[in-house]
Amino acid sequence: MEKYQISEIYVEPSAMERELTRRVLSSLPELPVYETDEARTSPYEITTEDIASSKKRLYIRDYKGEPLKPCPGTQGRLCCNYFIVNLAVGCPLDCSYCILQHYINSPYLTLYANIDYFLEKIDARLEAAPTGRSAAFRIGTGELTDSLALDPITGLSQVLVPFFAEKENATLELKTKTAEVTNLLGLEHRGKTVVAWSLNPQPIIDSDEAYSASLRERLEAALLCQEAGYRLAFHFDPIVNYRNWEQDYLEVVEELFARVKPENISWISMGGLRFSPDLKPIMRERFPESHLPLGELIPCEDGKLRYFKPIRVAIYRSLLSWIRGRAPGVPVYLCMESADVWRHVFGRAPSCDPKFTIDDL
Ligand code: SF4
Repeated sequence: MEKYQISEIYVEPSAMERELTRRVLSSLPELPVYETDEARTSPYEITTEDIASSKKRLYIRDYKGEPLKPCPGTQGRLCCNYFIVNLAVGCPLDCSYCILQHYINSPYLTLYANIDYFLEKIDARLEAAPTGRSAAFRIGTGELTDSLALDPITGLSQVLVPFFAEKENATLELKTKTAEVTNLLGLEHRGKTVVAWSLNPQPIIDSDEAYSASLRERLEAALLCQEAGYRLAFHFDPIVNYRNWEQDYLEVVEELFARVKPENISWISMGGLRFSPDLKPIMRERFPESHLPLGELIPCEDGKLRYFKPIRVAIYRSLLSWIRGRAPGVPVYLCMESADVWRHVFGRAPSCDPKFTIDDL
């Protein structure tokens, strides 16, 4: 895999003495470091050049808002009561379909340094919540970044995994397209961290997931985590409809179950390619070789473009049958799909009740 490149580091003065800042600076001693708070806000419209530079310019600062938020989901789609913690906003990987290209408003990859603040707030929220069901809070760090891409320089997993190991009513999900699991392997996790990979056939990884690990590297990393006793998860997302999809996705499923034991998998999700119409021109400009924006995608109720519903249902049903044939007991769910699609794929739709958890699937 070609490695992403961070080339400059900006640090807000209040974050300069933080432990995370020290770790990052000592991991990248050759890079120029600028102490400034001017990078906090950006005074202009973000251009495609800014998106490219946001992959290379790291901005380390403190965060002062609410750290634990419910996943926003999407209008009219079933949610799975997932919570997100955004310890970084922006990603050094460069997927053609990444929603961040449209969402971010900063030409920097922002990394939050006041980790103790995050942990205190999360602790208070979990303490105040009922205990008993280990999956009550499913918390992910991979909503606005890749959970592990920066881990070799931040070492954040070494803080988060032991923290969640002590929590009875929460599970941490680290979602990645990398193979950066070295820091995880010796940690005391007590089964409370799920390490998750987004999966796609290698041709899609090659054309549309720049700087990510190959399928084989991802699955080898999953194998290492399995051997270290971690729970695993996999996300077929975004599923792309192309000429060889059937053969290629079946091969991904076969390769997955050739390495990973079903009993170690906590969940598998499926989500078809989707993006807002505003993202399409950005994709065309930044990734002129990509076929993804050229597919036949139609606007849905939530404003996003998706494949025609019968196509999505047919793909989900095929994928589900391949997964069920090898792992009948593993919970499988759809990401950002309507109740109608759920019913066509699973024969039923779960509720969007706040008490709904992955155990209800
Ligand atoms: S790994 Fe995720 S956050 Fe990073 S560029 Fe790809 S889609 Fe975006």
